[in-house]
Amino acid sequence: MSDYIKDIIAEVKAKNPAEPEFHQAVQEVVESLVLVLDRHPEYRSAKILERILVPERVIIFRVPWVDEQGEVQVNRGYRIQMNSAIGPYKGGLRFHPSVTIGILKFLAFEQVFKNSLTTLPMGGGKGGSDFDPHGKTDLDTMRFCQAFMSELFRHVGPDTDVPAGDIGVGGREIGYLFGQYRKLKNEFTGVFTGKGLNWGGSLIRPEATGYGAVYFASEMLATRGKSIEGKLCLVSGSGNVAQYTVEKINQMGGKVVTLSDSKGYIYDEEGIDEKKLAFVMELKNVKRGRISEYTQKYSRAVYTPVDPKLDYNPLWNHKADCAFPSATQNEINGKDAQNLLRNGVYVVAEGANMPTSLDGVKLFLDTKILYGPGKAANAGGVATSGLEMSQNSMRLPWPREEVDNRLHQIMKRIHKTCVDVAERFGTPGNYVNGANIGGFLKVADAMIDQGVI
Ligand code: NDP
Repeated sequence: MSDYIKDIIAEVKAKNPAEPEFHQAVQEVVESLVLVLDRHPEYRSAKILERILVPERVIIFRVPWVDEQGEVQVNRGYRIQMNSAIGPYKGGLRFHPSVTIGILKFLAFEQVFKNSLTTLPMGGGKGGSDFDPHGKTDLDTMRFCQAFMSELFRHVGPDTDVPAGDIGVGGREIGYLFGQYRKLKNEFTGVFTGKGLNWGGSLIRPEATGYGAVYFASEMLATRGKSIEGKLCLVSGSGNVAQYTVEKINQMGGKVVTLSDSKGYIYDEEGIDEKKLAFVMELKNVKRGRISEYTQKYSRAVYTPVDPKLDYNPLWNHKADCAFPSATQNEINGKDAQNLLRNGVYVVAEGANMPTSLDGVKLFLDTKILYGPGKAANAGGVATSGLEMSQNSMRLPWPREEVDNRLHQIMKRIHKTCVDVAERFGTPGNYVNGANIGGFLKVADAMIDQGVI
C-alpha cells in the first residue's frame, strides 16, 4: 500500500474516531483506488479522494415524541448527505437501536459508488434513527415517524435528497413518513421511494434488491457457463431483501435451505418453496413474528438460536453452492468465510451492505470464487428507486414487466462494468476492484468538471 493511501486511512481514523464500520468501508474502497490513482494523477492533484471521504453535510437532530402510554420518548435522527456530484442525494433510512453516525457514514459512503454504478443520476446519502420498530404498535410507529419527519422535511426534496427504506423501514414506515412530509410541505412529489402503489410507488420496487442480487449471481455464474438452476443456496435475514432473494432463486430453479433473524436461523433441508415463503412473508411483514415460528409450522426444519459464545455463525456452515448474505453488516467474519469455502460455496452475492469483514473479503478474492460485493450485487434496489423517481417525474406508472426488464438490464450492465473495469485495471475477475473503480470514475470526473466546491 502506498504511503499516500496509508496516510489517507490514518487521517480518516483520526478524524472519525470510534466509527469502525466507516473505517472498514473506506479501507476497502481506497485499496482498490490505488490502481486508478497511479494512472490518473489529476485525481490526486484535485484531491478527489480527500474530498470524497468527507460528507457534504451531516444532519443530527432530536426526535421527541409521546408514546401510547403518554410517556415522552427521545430518539436521535440523522441524515448523511455524502455526495451530490452526479444527482440528488439518494439512499435509505435505517431504524434500528444499533444505528450510529459511523454506521450511517459507512452506508452513505458505499451508496455513492453503488448509485454511480447503476448508471442513473443519483448522488449518495443515508439516514435513520436509533428508534426500534420491533414490537411497536402502528400508533407508536406513526407518532415516531411524524416526529422524525417534522425535522427531516426541511433537508430533503425530490431534487435535493430522496430517502427510501432500509433495515426497520418498510412500507408502513414510508407511508407515515411520506404522509407527514406531504402535510408539512403541502405538495405531492417523489420525495421518497418505496412508496405504496396507490400513491406514487413503483411496481417491482419491493422485489428489486433481492431479485437484483440473484440476477447478479446469475451473471457471475454465466461467466463459468453455469446458472442458478439446481444450485443449493444459503440466505440470511428474513426481511425485504431475503424474502425476494428466495423468491427469485426459486423462480430460477435453485433451492434455498436457510433464513434467519437477529435471534437465530432455520435450516430446512427440503427447501423453502413458494408456499413456505408465503408463510414467512405473512409472519414477518404482517404478524411481525420471529423466524423460530417457522419450525412450529414446518416441523422437519431445525431452528438454532444465536449463541453469543460462538465466534462464527453456524448458518454459514452448511453444504451449499451459493451464499446470499441479506441481513446486516459484518455477518460473515473470517471464520465464516473459511466455513463457506470448506462447504463448497463458490458464489457469494451480497444482498446486505458490507456483510463480509475485510479478512473474509480477502479470502474470497484469494480463492477466486465468484464474489459480488454489495455495492454491485444489491444495487438493484436503488436502481429501481431511480426508476420510481423517473415515473414520478413523468407522472406515469410503468407495468411490472417493464420495470423488471429494466432492472434486469441494469444488473447486467453493472456486472459488465465490474468485469470490464477489473480487467482494464489488471485484476480480471475481481468484482471488488471493478465495482469500486467503476463507481468512482464517474463521480470523480463529475467533481473535476464542477470545480472545487
Ligand atoms: P429488513 O429490516 O426488512 O430485514 C432485516 C433482516 O436482517 C431481518 O431479518 C433482521 O432480523 C435481520 N437483522 C437486522 N439486524 C441484524 C443483526 N444485527 N444481526 C442479525 N440479523 C439482523 O431490512 P432489509 O431486508 O431491507 O435490509 C437487509 C440488508 O440489505 C441491510 O444490510 C440493508 O442495508 C441492505 N439493503 C437493503 C436494500 C433495500 O432495498 N431494502 C437495498 C440495498 C441493501 P430482526 O427482524 O430480528 O431484526
